[in-house]
Amino acid sequence: MHQMTLAEIARGLADKKFSSEELTKVLLARITQLDPQLNSFISLTEDLAIEQAKAADARRANGESGALLGAPIAHKDLFCTQGIRTSCGSKMLDNFKAPYDATVVAKLAAAGAVTLGKTNMDEFAMGSANESSWYGAVKNPWNLEHVPGGSSGGSAAAVAARLLPAATATDTGGSIRQPAAFTNLTGLKPTYGRVSRWGMIAYASSLDQGGPLARTAEDCAILLQGMAGFDPNDSTSIDKPVPDYSASLGESLQGLRIGVPKEYFSAGLDPRIAELIQNSIQQLQKLGAVIKEISLPNMQHAIPAYYVIAPAEASSNLSRFDGVRFGHRCENPENLIDLYKRSRGEGFGAEVQRRIMVGAYALSAGYYDAYYLKAQKIRRLVKNDFMAAFNEVDIILGPTTPNPAWKLGAKNSDPVAAYLEDVYTITANLAGLPGLSMPAGFVDGLPVGVQLLAPYFQEGRLLNVAHQYQLNTDWHTRTPTGF
Ligand code: GLN
Repeated sequence: MHQMTLAEIARGLADKKFSSEELTKVLLARITQLDPQLNSFISLTEDLAIEQAKAADARRANGESGALLGAPIAHKDLFCTQGIRTSCGSKMLDNFKAPYDATVVAKLAAAGAVTLGKTNMDEFAMGSANESSWYGAVKNPWNLEHVPGGSSGGSAAAVAARLLPAATATDTGGSIRQPAAFTNLTGLKPTYGRVSRWGMIAYASSLDQGGPLARTAEDCAILLQGMAGFDPNDSTSIDKPVPDYSASLGESLQGLRIGVPKEYFSAGLDPRIAELIQNSIQQLQKLGAVIKEISLPNMQHAIPAYYVIAPAEASSNLSRFDGVRFGHRCENPENLIDLYKRSRGEGFGAEVQRRIMVGAYALSAGYYDAYYLKAQKIRRLVKNDFMAAFNEVDIILGPTTPNPAWKLGAKNSDPVAAYLEDVYTITANLAGLPGLSMPAGFVDGLPVGVQLLAPYFQEGRLLNVAHQYQLNTDWHTRTPTGF
C-alpha cells in the first residue's frame, strides 16, 4: 500500500479498494517503525490524521470526489498549523503552537488531504543538508551516511522512503529541487507569487515559495493544484487563474525548444552528473525536443548576490523572535537587553546567527550600497539573462546540483563550501521563475536530478516535460533498499 503514488491512491479510493482511514493507519504505523532511522518528522499528528481520514471517507461516501480527498500528506514544519507545534526546525519555536493555519495548509485540508505530521527541516530553512535542525540531522534513505539535502530534507526523506506519497516544501534558493535531486524525487518550485506565503514562516520573503515534493510529475501536478491560487492575505500573491495542471500532462514534446546553458558545464560539475544530464537530453530529443546551446553570462555572480540578499531579508524577518511575544525566552532576564540577547542567543543555532549577522552587516548604513544594493543590481542582471534566453527557448535544462549528496558532517566546518552547491538552483529564485527537478540516474548509488526552468507561470509546461520524460524512463520508480 505504501508504494502507491497520489494518483494511484486517488483511483483506489474512488474504486473503494481501501479507505483513507485504512491507508492512513498503514502509513502512520510505517512512520513509527521506520522513521527512527531517518528522523524525517518533527511531529506526528496521528489523531488529526485519523479524524481527517474519517471525514474524507464520509465525504466520498456522500458522492464527493477529488484527487486529494483522503490523500495522506505532511507539511514542512514552517507552515503554520493551528494548535500544532510549528517549530521551523528551531529551538526558538519548539514551544510554538500556531494560532492559525497557513493558507496552503487550509487549502489542502479543504481539498480533503490528510495531515500525517510536520517534517524536519534546516533551522529557519537555512541550509542545504538538513543538518542545522535543532531536532537533529535527517538521513538520506538511499544511504544513511549521507545528507538528504535541505532545507526540506524531512519532506524529501519521508517521501523517498515511501513513508507517504507527497509532502509540502519550500524553496528560497533550492530547498525543494535540491533535496528532490538528492533523494530521487520530483520537486517543483512555482513562480514567485503562485502559492500563498501567508502562514509560511519567512526566511527571505522576496525569494521564498512553497511547492510540492513527490515521486512523479503527475503527483506534483495534483499537489500543486491544491496549493496554488490567489490569496488576499499575501500581498505578493498573484491574482491570476490557476490552470488545470493535470490536464497539461498530455502534450507532445515535438518541436519543444530546450536551451542548455554552456555555463552549466564548467569545472565545478561532477563529470558523472554531466554524463547523466547528456543522457536525459538525448532522451528528450528522442521525444521530439530540439536542443539549443544558450548562455546565462551573469550566473557566476548569483551565489554572492543570493548570500547577501537572503541573509539581509532573514536578519529583518527574524527580528520578531525577541523572547517577548512568542517563542523561546531565557530564564530570569535582568533587563530588556538581557532578555533579547539571551533569548536570541539560546534560541537560534549557529547558522541562523551567522546569517543574521551577515544580513545586518550588509544592510547597515555605510555598507548598504556596497553590498545590498549591488546584490540587487546583480539580481536584475540574472533576471535579464533569463528573459533573453526565453526569447529563444521554451525550457532551460541542466543539472540540479553539481555533486550528489555528501556525507553527513562533510561540510559542517565550511559553510561557503555548502553555499557553492546551490549554484544551479538559486538563479530561479533570484528571477522568481518556476523550476523543477526530476530523477535522472545514479552516481555511486546516490540519486542525481535534472533541472528544468520555464518562463513565469509555465508550471504546466515543466510538469508536462517531466511527465513525458517519466513515461519513457524508470529512474523515478527506483526505491531505496530497506524502504
Ligand atoms: N541552501 C540555500 C540556503 O541555505 C537555500 C535554502 C532554501 O531554499 N530554503 O539559503
